[in-house]
Amino acid sequence: MDRKYIFVVGGVMSGIGKGITTSSILRILKSKGFSATAMKIDPYVNVDAGTMSPTEHGEVFVTDDGAECDQDIGNYERFSGEDLTKDNYLTTGKVYQTVINKERNLEYNGKCVEVVPHIPNEVISRIKRAGAVTDSDFVLIEIGGTIGEYQNLLFLEAARMMKLKNPSSVLVVLVSYLPIPKTIGEMKTKPTQSASRLLNEAGIQPDIIVGRSSMPIDNIRKRKISTFCNIDPEDVISAPDTDSIYDVPLLFEKEKMGERILKKVGKSVKRKREGLSEWKNFIEKKNNAKKRVKIAIVGKYFETGDFVLTDSYISVIEAIRHACWKNNSKEEISWINSEKYEKNKKKVEELSHYDGVIVPGGFGDRGVEGKIIAANFCREKKIPFLGLCLGMQIAVIEFARNVCKLKDANSTEFSKKCSHPVIDVMEDQKELLKNNRYGGTMRLGAYECKIASKTVAQKIYKKRDISERHRHRFEVNNYFRPILEENGLTISGVNPQHDLVEIIEIKKHPFYFGVQFHPELKSKPLTGHPIFNYFVDIAIKR
Ligand code: GLN
Repeated sequence: MDRKYIFVVGGVMSGIGKGITTSSILRILKSKGFSATAMKIDPYVNVDAGTMSPTEHGEVFVTDDGAECDQDIGNYERFSGEDLTKDNYLTTGKVYQTVINKERNLEYNGKCVEVVPHIPNEVISRIKRAGAVTDSDFVLIEIGGTIGEYQNLLFLEAARMMKLKNPSSVLVVLVSYLPIPKTIGEMKTKPTQSASRLLNEAGIQPDIIVGRSSMPIDNIRKRKISTFCNIDPEDVISAPDTDSIYDVPLLFEKEKMGERILKKVGKSVKRKREGLSEWKNFIEKKNNAKKRVKIAIVGKYFETGDFVLTDSYISVIEAIRHACWKNNSKEEISWINSEKYEKNKKKVEELSHYDGVIVPGGFGDRGVEGKIIAANFCREKKIPFLGLCLGMQIAVIEFARNVCKLKDANSTEFSKKCSHPVIDVMEDQKELLKNNRYGGTMRLGAYECKIASKTVAQKIYKKRDISERHRHRFEVNNYFRPILEENGLTISGVNPQHDLVEIIEIKKHPFYFGVQFHPELKSKPLTGHPIFNYFVDIAIKR
């Protein structure tokens, strides 16, 4: 098969949209009738993203097969509508781990194993595997960080080696930033020229330059970039800031991104009809949304210096947006730090001003008591409430304390010696924790769940068997199930293999719903996720 590879690399600085560029190209290629997959390579030594704190890394995205990845994998899934796997994510740590294991197993036949070429060769074989297992016409490879960093040299080396061997099958897209300094008031191309030159130093000539800026790039600057970076002005794609990341595929298409790529790799459109029409309809619907839905996310936030990161909840935010658009409305999200309810319980009354409240996932005991206060308020005041993973555990703790009157009910994650551990760690997890085996050992990825009939869960899913993604160590303690149910907690979803509680709800409430899994990870912009769609629908009615 004549498979094509497109590397997406960043110059000047990170955080300017390599992930969205990759995701948008993915969508465009698919709209032209090609199969395409995307892969993220992160330069850090961590084997995966699972062991990093939220301030270091932001959200950890989880695939069906349980890989703990970078949030870009989430964007690839949202833009392509397809589920990806561990083959779509690679780190320096994973590459070295594999090479060292192979060496220990004598798989290099007594050779001296060297950084070059064995490391880039391993990278190349993984890139090829991602294409082969998905049987894709195109594989997009996003290299994390920016060029010129010592950390990703070996990944660029892999790109160079692949391009050298098969120039017509490998493209390199450089995503670069064009600043408009206030004092000058003019868009500057020099940083992009330097980035392109840095790439040349690594033996690579960019084929396309995506120019990110606050404004569109005019022809004068396109020509300048063309001259100094050695590319056709038509291969400079203007990518100004947009209201929404989902606008980018259409913006790229205006700049003929798809056409340029196909021309370079010598392919023509597989499907004649314009394949972005569904996407266009969705964008139109999104832009015309009139109603406003006020959602509070009660969580714990992560501060770095003067900045607060909401990055850790990116999939939750996207899932709310998708569901709002589906309901012809637009989200108004407020971030509420639960710790303030611990200091002043009365403050929780502010939640009555919202159409719905979400308590998202999380780890560690900071802010937990405040979240319990919020769950209690939503239950008693009948405010639509959605608990995600930790959020569900919070709802169970609150119910145990205040309805079942189980004194000091808690999760053993927060209070090892509490008298009523309604949330507890699974048996097999205890052994892992005792031996400090933290990496990749949570209950991860897709697990089945059976839905009980005559429940809200059944109304939402309209089927009995579902599968959702997980990332947690603690569970509802089955010992307390009878007492929780006797007091009116409905357990509406259970994992059939291990008899674990997956969904809880209560009656006589517009919507009080908790899930042990992360439905936000599977929400797609064109359809939304049934739980979020239902939640937003109820919130609008409120
Ligand atoms: N800390 C909880 C657990 O490990 C919840 C995890 C989460 O919200 N993802 O079970």
